[in-house]
Parts: sequence; structure tokens; C-alpha cells
Amino acid sequence: MHIIQFLTLYGVVCGHFQQHHPHVNHLQKRNAISNKSNPIATQVLIIGAGISGLEAARLLQKNGIKTLILEARNRTGGRIWSIHSKNGHILEMGASYIHGIYGSIPSGLLTNPIWDLTQEAKIRTHATKQKDFLGSYQIGDSISAIQSWFNEYMIFVREETRISSTNVSFGYYANLFAKQKNFTEEQQYAFTNYLHFFIGAVEGAELDAIGAKGYLDINSVHYGRNHIFSETGYMALTDYLAKDATDIRLKEVVVKIAYNEKSAEIETN
Ligand SMILES: Cc1cc2nc3c(=O)[nH]c(=O)nc-3n(C[C@H](O)[C@H](O)[C@H](O)COP(=O)(O)OP(=O)(O)OC[C@H]3O[C@@H](n4cnc5c(N)ncnc54)[C@H](O)[C@@H]3O)c2cc1C
Repeated sequence: MHIIQFLTLYGVVCGHFQQHHPHVNHLQKRNAISNKSNPIATQVLIIGAGISGLEAARLLQKNGIKTLILEARNRTGGRIWSIHSKNGHILEMGASYIHGIYGSIPSGLLTNPIWDLTQEAKIRTHATKQKDFLGSYQIGDSISAIQSWFNEYMIFVREETRISSTNVSFGYYANLFAKQKNFTEEQQYAFTNYLHFFIGAVEGAELDAIGAKGYLDINSVHYGRNHIFSETGYMALTDYLAKDATDIRLKEVVVKIAYNEKSAEIETN
């Protein structure tokens, strides 16, 4: 294993970023290995070139502070990763929605700052229609009927969890609710699909694995209106943030951080 100390500044940009930003190809990849007698220094070292690290670097650089980003993967973007299929579709492998546009986050009319960044970057986004969320799932009843079941169900779950001390799953309450409503098999199917989209898919877990009480305790701020990057993929935004952050090193996994009042030393593998 090589040990690298980052105490002198230089930039390396490669992988995804170089493919999409040929204008930075002129940056030379210099010998990345240094030793304690030849250290590499920077004012601020950022670990991770996800949206947080990239935006931090951008804001610091805007204020004249030198940054160096170390990223473990061979691309920027982190959990934002858009891939383009051969037949021209964009597949979002990570984030796809901006939740909360134009002050639509219900608690306090807030706007998601990602929306503001998207406007600044002049990236076109689109609203998603309710029916698009349901994709190929069959809906026997109209969307508005299912939405009103959903609203009723959430009130039901809130009330149940308020009087219960146990953290029972959304799936359990869904069955209970369906029985009370006397749903037909088809209605229950449509209702459960809706729950899968609005709770299961957002949380990345099956309804039976999400404790309703715990979820409602931490989810008091509900998402606002959504937009997606259907023309470019979400990575258009992280690429925008990355384009001026010239000191990004890919394939650098930070394995150790040691620091004192004067400095910090970072080791990568
Ligand atoms: C499937 C999925 C769907 C999602 N959908 C949405 C959505 O629709 N809307 C939404 O707003 N959010 C969504 N999210 C959440 C959103 O993607 C994340 O909140 C956001 O991307 C986090 O950004 P970040 O920069 O904080 O972290 P990350 O994107 O995780 O970036 C951290 C970076 O640090 C790097 N790193 C970690 N350890 C090291 C190390 N030791 N050395 C060097 N580098 C390291 C990682 O490789 C990574 O690139 C989704 C997430 C997933 C996974």
C-alpha cells in the first residue's frame, strides 16, 4: 500500500469528469505518490466528490480558498449517477427528484436549494405527473380515488401510531386499513402499489420493513413538488458544480486522517 500525504497542491481530473469536460484535459496527471519529505498541501481538503463535496469546493473557491477533493470512485457525483442507455434513455442509478421547488416544501414554504442551483446552472427540468409515478402498475380506480385513500390511510396510521407504543410496519397498517375499507382485491392491489411508490420507493425498503411510528416521527417535513432531469440526467448538476473545481483526484480512498491544532494529514491507499 502506498501512503500519500496531501500537503502540496496540484490538480488531477480524470474518469467521468474528463470524458464530459474535455476542456480540462490539459491538466496533467502528475505522479500521485509523494512522501513525507515531499508533501502536498492545500487550504481545505474535501473528502468525497458527491454533491456536498463539490458544492463545498465551489463555494470555498469562489471565496478565494484553495481546495483539493479526494474521491474514492473513478467518477464524481457520488449517489447522483446518471447513465445513458444505447437507445437514448437516461437511467438514474441514484437520486432522480428535486423535492421542493418554488417554495413548495410544506413546512414554512421553503425551496430546496438544489432547485436554486439548477436555475443558476440553467438546466431544464420537468414536473412528473402522478400517473407516471405508477409506471406499469395497473390502476383500476382513478388516481384521485387512490390519492384520497392514501390521505385517509396516513391519518389512520398517524392515529394508530399515536396510541401505540410499538413500531409496527406500514405493511401491517395497510392490511388493516384495506380490511376496514372493504377493498376488493383489485383496489387493494392498486392501493398497495401506490404505497410502494410513495413510501417504499422513496425510503428504499419494503413496506413490511418500515416502522410507521419511527417514520412518522422523523418525517414531519414532507417533500414538496417534484421535478426531474429528464433531458440531461441529475449528473448535469454535479458536472456543473465540478466544472470549476479543478483539483479533484479520483480513485483516492482515504484510509486515515490524523490532525492537530495546526494541520491535518490524510493517507489514501
Ligand atoms: C437510489 C437512491 C435514490 C435517491 N433518490 C433521491 C431523490 O430522488 N432526491 C434526492 O434529493 N435525494 C435522493 N437520494 C439521496 C441523494 O442521492 C443523496 O442525499 C446525495 O446524493 C448525497 O450527496 P453527498 O455528497 O452528501 O454524499 P455522496 O453522494 O454519498 O458522496 C460522498 C462521496 O464520498 C466518497 N467517499 C466516501 N468515502 C470515501 C473515502 N474514504 N475516501 C474518498 N472518498 C470517499 C464517495 O465515493 C462519494 O462519491 C437518493 C439516493 C439513492 C442511493
